[in-house]
Amino acid sequence: MSILVIAEHDNSELKISTACTVTAALQCGSPVDILVMGYQCEAVAKSAAQISGVIRVLHADAPSLQYGLAENAAEQVLSVASSYTHIFAPATTFGKGVMPRVAARLDVELISEVIRVLSNDTFSRPVYAGNAIATVKSADPVKVLTVRPTAFAAETRDGGAIIENIPPVPDTGKAVYVSRDVDKTGRPDLADASVIVAGGQGVGSVDNFRLLEVLADQLGAAIGASRAAVDAGYVKNDLQIGQTGKIVAPELYFAIGISGAIQHVAGIKDAKTIVAINQDPDAPIFLVADYGLVGDLHELVPQLTDLLQS
Ligand code: FAD
Repeated sequence: MSILVIAEHDNSELKISTACTVTAALQCGSPVDILVMGYQCEAVAKSAAQISGVIRVLHADAPSLQYGLAENAAEQVLSVASSYTHIFAPATTFGKGVMPRVAARLDVELISEVIRVLSNDTFSRPVYAGNAIATVKSADPVKVLTVRPTAFAAETRDGGAIIENIPPVPDTGKAVYVSRDVDKTGRPDLADASVIVAGGQGVGSVDNFRLLEVLADQLGAAIGASRAAVDAGYVKNDLQIGQTGKIVAPELYFAIGISGAIQHVAGIKDAKTIVAINQDPDAPIFLVADYGLVGDLHELVPQLTDLLQS
């Protein structure tokens, strides 16, 4: 057996999702290598080499790999795939773009959103918006998987893998990087945040979301939202949490003006403590909340912010 983990990074920092994916890979077996592909990303390769349990870091460096375009990244993975029995990536926007391409080209199934590794060919993954867990046994010669980073603790950083430079694949030319809109609020990423303040349709407007931002700034929290809030245009769609949004696992999650539809709850199941604020005492969110405040968010959120300030 030989396992490859695809690193996620921004050319300067390795994302924590990589270390979580290594944990899943090590539960499957060993040896585990990491593929770092990017541009001028030596620091990332060094950081990946420190993840314990990793034997080798394969480092491919080229301008065409700078922006993580799935077309080029998949080609790079395929260039080394024949040496591996398992290929793991985090089930993030990056991994979800690259790995279906890799699986299709290898003519194997993609096992997506793995939350438990039961053996080297058997894995658990949520289905029906997390309301059931499927156990999947794969007979494919190469297992191509994405894993939910929130389901695995990050592997520690006391390793010393060797770094091996590999030739970058030529640019496929199938996609061209145009631009990237980067969030400049300075708030933490939803994926890494230990506190999240999320708002729903009940928040009512873009202006009202400001109440949640003040609370989030007070707590050093990330802002999240339900799909209804995104569809209403209150916030950008990259803040959507749930089945078709981001899966989060903060220590503390505020669900404010969110009813608690199963598709939303599917994204917050791993939150340690959920606080719900809703004016409807029968809102389903109270069934999953650890603490519930029944009342108007326009009164309760400023009160909470004031209490935290004092
Ligand atoms: P609503 O259901 O309208 O709830 C608003 C809540 O705010 C109500 O409970 C109300 O009592 C409360 N409220 C109103 N005013 C106030 C006030 N002044 N003070 C306090 N409380 C107030 N949804 C997601 O969130 N994420 C997903 O990823 C997602 N994926 C989906 C995928 C599919 C295939 C489908 C079919 C649906 C998906 N949805 C998703 C949509 C989901 O079904 C719900 O429609 C959505 O989550 C509802 O959002 P909401 O709770 O903000 O709005």
